[in-house]
Amino acid sequence: MCPRPRSERVVVIGAGHAGVQVADSLRAAGHDGPLAVVGDEPAPPYQRPPLSKEHLASTGTAMPLRAERFFRENRIELRTGVTATAIDRASRIVHLDDGGTVPYDVLVLATGAANRTPAVPGADLPGVHALRTLADADEVAAALPRARSVLVVGAGFIGLEVAAAARARGLPVTVLEAADRPLGRAVSPVMAEHLADAHRRMGTTLRLGEAVAAFTGRGVVSSVGLEYATDLVVVGIGVVARTALAAAAGLPVSDGIVVDENLRTADPAIYAVGDCASHPSAHTGTRIRLESVQNATDQARHVATAILGDSGSGPYAELPWFWSHQGPLKLQIAGVRLPDDESVPCGDPATGRFSVCCFRDGRLVAVESLNRPADHIAARRLLSAGRSPHPGQVGDPAFSLKDFARRPVAA
Ligand SMILES: Cc1cc2nc3c(=O)[nH]c(=O)nc-3n(C[C@H](O)[C@H](O)[C@H](O)COP(=O)(O)OP(=O)(O)OC[C@H]3O[C@@H](n4cnc5c(N)ncnc54)[C@H](O)[C@@H]3O)c2cc1C
Repeated sequence: MCPRPRSERVVVIGAGHAGVQVADSLRAAGHDGPLAVVGDEPAPPYQRPPLSKEHLASTGTAMPLRAERFFRENRIELRTGVTATAIDRASRIVHLDDGGTVPYDVLVLATGAANRTPAVPGADLPGVHALRTLADADEVAAALPRARSVLVVGAGFIGLEVAAAARARGLPVTVLEAADRPLGRAVSPVMAEHLADAHRRMGTTLRLGEAVAAFTGRGVVSSVGLEYATDLVVVGIGVVARTALAAAAGLPVSDGIVVDENLRTADPAIYAVGDCASHPSAHTGTRIRLESVQNATDQARHVATAILGDSGSGPYAELPWFWSHQGPLKLQIAGVRLPDDESVPCGDPATGRFSVCCFRDGRLVAVESLNRPADHIAARRLLSAGRSPHPGQVGDPAFSLKDFARRPVAA
């Protein structure tokens, strides 16, 4: 990779975790050229994870991603409330919905993801909310104090975080989940069962194997014909990558904007990062698209290095990690678990503080930790170093992931 001139014009579309980090990392690494970040949301860039946690506990205020002066001092042209509508790849120009255009030498797509909407009657009725943006979270936060009960559709991370926040306010909460366990795709069966029980103990009614069939304006009808009366519905059934802009520009798209190991699209002048990017993963040997702050910010850092032509960075291979806070349940995940991986509990689930080690072909590939931050740190250290205990070792009640990670590596 040849070093690029540091004076090139870089344009970033999307002012979320990934987009803002690209701009930050470029300036920090000495990029000196014009740098613009275009975001369609009106608010200054903000942190998304608190929206389904702290923001719902009070009528929260947004937590900014950077102070306003950061953009000024770093000469980053931040254009909020403006949507990029088309990319003219031949002329290297981005068209905006305010009628303006922005020329680029290098373009970074950081367009994130959008919530999936259930294809059932009444999904657009008032009182049916999603939770992706600050505007969404403000609506839910304003509705919660007035609500008499809450129905959550989807027992994924967002749904369970909302359920915990609503229970903390003392509201009756029902969660409808089409699958037979919560977080089916995201965590091991052991962890999923434990979390389901913990939510039940917090007072949430979990209705598993039951999807939404219709929203009525007074509540929800489920796929088994039951009616749930409620005045506040929050839908959290996953997201789809925002790829329309890339696809319209002729870039390959397949559950995300398709990028190579350096996060570059089929057009060498265009990169994609964060929730919108489908990248080859050194951790699974497959193409994956991750939805996490770690992935967004680490990919952004990698792209900044790649744009500046630092050939020393190598393919993107950062260890994925993630957290979810569901009331008192602090879940942290390091690595990527695939459905067929072996899961071995480490510690006693009955204590509410334990981990699950996930093995593929006998090697540690992921660790889910519940209220055990030291295990999570140890897991990240082990996985990054490619070190692995034996599955049999982990099942021993005396085994400690933290101690294992501290042990010197055998020569
Ligand atoms: C409620 C909630 C809670 C979460 N909690 C956690 C958590 O606890 N831990 C964790 O690791 N992750 C969490 N996540 C996921 C994490 O926030 C995302 O993975 C991360 O925000 C992805 O960053 P991104 O920059 O790729 O996308 P985004 O943050 O979605 O930013 C993309 C931005 O691009 C804008 N955009 C899209 N198209 C255009 C266009 N054409 N023109 C201009 N702008 C455009 C979008 O409006 C958006 O502002 C949570 C997400 C949500 C929604």
